[in-house]
Amino acid sequence: MKIEDNIETFNSLVKRQGFVWGPSPEIYGGLAGFYSYGPAGMALKNNIISLFRKELRALGFSEVECPIVTPEIVWEASGHLERFIDPVIKCKKCESIFRADKFLKEQMPDAMIDGLSFKEMEVLIKSNSLTCPECDSEFDKIEDYNLMLKTNVGAGNTAYLRPETATTTYLLFNRLSQVLRKQYPLKVFQYGKAFRNEISPRQGVLRMRSFDQFELQMFISKEQEYNLEDFNDIKHNKLPLLDWRLQDKNIAIPNQIDLEDAIEKKILKKPAYAYCLYLSYFLISKLGYPDEVIRFRQHSPNEKAHYADDAWDLEVNTTQFGWVEICGIHDRTDYDLKRHGKYSKQNFEVSMDTNPSIKEIPQILEIAYGIDRIIYTLLETNFNVEDKRINLKLSKNVAPNQVAVFPLVKNKEKIRLLAKKIHRGLLQNLIYSYYDESGSIGKRYRRQDELGTPYCVTIDYDSLEDSTVTIRERDTMTQIRIDISEIPMTIKNGLPKIKE
Ligand SMILES: [Zn+2]
Repeated sequence: MKIEDNIETFNSLVKRQGFVWGPSPEIYGGLAGFYSYGPAGMALKNNIISLFRKELRALGFSEVECPIVTPEIVWEASGHLERFIDPVIKCKKCESIFRADKFLKEQMPDAMIDGLSFKEMEVLIKSNSLTCPECDSEFDKIEDYNLMLKTNVGAGNTAYLRPETATTTYLLFNRLSQVLRKQYPLKVFQYGKAFRNEISPRQGVLRMRSFDQFELQMFISKEQEYNLEDFNDIKHNKLPLLDWRLQDKNIAIPNQIDLEDAIEKKILKKPAYAYCLYLSYFLISKLGYPDEVIRFRQHSPNEKAHYADDAWDLEVNTTQFGWVEICGIHDRTDYDLKRHGKYSKQNFEVSMDTNPSIKEIPQILEIAYGIDRIIYTLLETNFNVEDKRINLKLSKNVAPNQVAVFPLVKNKEKIRLLAKKIHRGLLQNLIYSYYDESGSIGKRYRRQDELGTPYCVTIDYDSLEDSTVTIRERDTMTQIRIDISEIPMTIKNGLPKIKE
């Protein structure tokens, strides 16, 4: 989004064209943190998911789906019961509730808040005489607030809506090991809903309480982490890596670093982890983000989860919210399977390498995408206003409609029938076509520009005579005349370059 483009114009477009609505249910005032996708948003989401699925199949990943509702013991073992908590402070007088770490970051932007204990945060609040922003009164002590949504199953058995898909995939390890015929590293992914009971979600669609995750895992041996065949094919790709030591120096966008160099310079430790960074970027690069809005940011030792060996976020620079994490890449070590092995009394030790006498618990490398955040950032970074025309420059890989088909006039039956026939033919060709006959042609073009539709085809009186149509390209607004039979190829390859 350029500066001259208006955030309000963008936010109203997202609702007006049916991408995202909410908080839902709107007619009852809405519950914060819950949103609905309209037809355009759902089509965009489905296109992203099918593109990811197709690419991952080619890379040897298998897909699973697990239940959303999970018994308590799973989250006891995973550590979520104990550690998936926010520090919360309540005003003694008006009882307003705040997240202590967020509140401190807002009040003291220069202080280092990540990694502070509850006590240390309390001391900071006291020593700086920070009070309730609503009524200026003192705060109570900081309390634990668990972010998992609790529910009951059957006759009062406590269960939780999963806070992530990843853990539910780990629980399948023994089964997966069998069906994937012990070919390590095992490559798996899961797409589905996860839930987070945020105390007071702000930042709109970025802080959903119910959200879509798309998480990839590699179950890998210690040896393979340093010796992964796939790494050799991609080691000279360059990524914008901002390691945590650079983050104090006000560098927002880092230089592109060759992955083999990054290992040699010890910015990254393990080739297999470097491969995961590459893979996370590879899938994102298919979606059509402008290059300059993407970076990888490493977690500082304070920010990192206690078990993580390394963690980086793939971030997108937005106008409305600054840098936004759309994907986290985590080296989780053998923490998860060790814990679940202990709590379930299962043995997760397997022999993964050339020497069958060596048995080990697999390491887990993970790539976790937030699909809703991808949708938001993709819409925002592709939103343009050009001479008062809104143009959503979505890639044709993901746009809700790849083409829209218009009859020039709707009261001429022969034109209408031909337009409908062309529309159905395109759908049969697996091209997402949208048929629209309402309003002037100019209005129909504008509607499709706002939906990010790359091409529009208009059927007119001449089409009845010579089987040609007008095809219009969204970004250049160029219009040319082509034969009906040429429509699919033109959508695939773009308009032929016109000689000057
Ligand atoms: Zn208060």
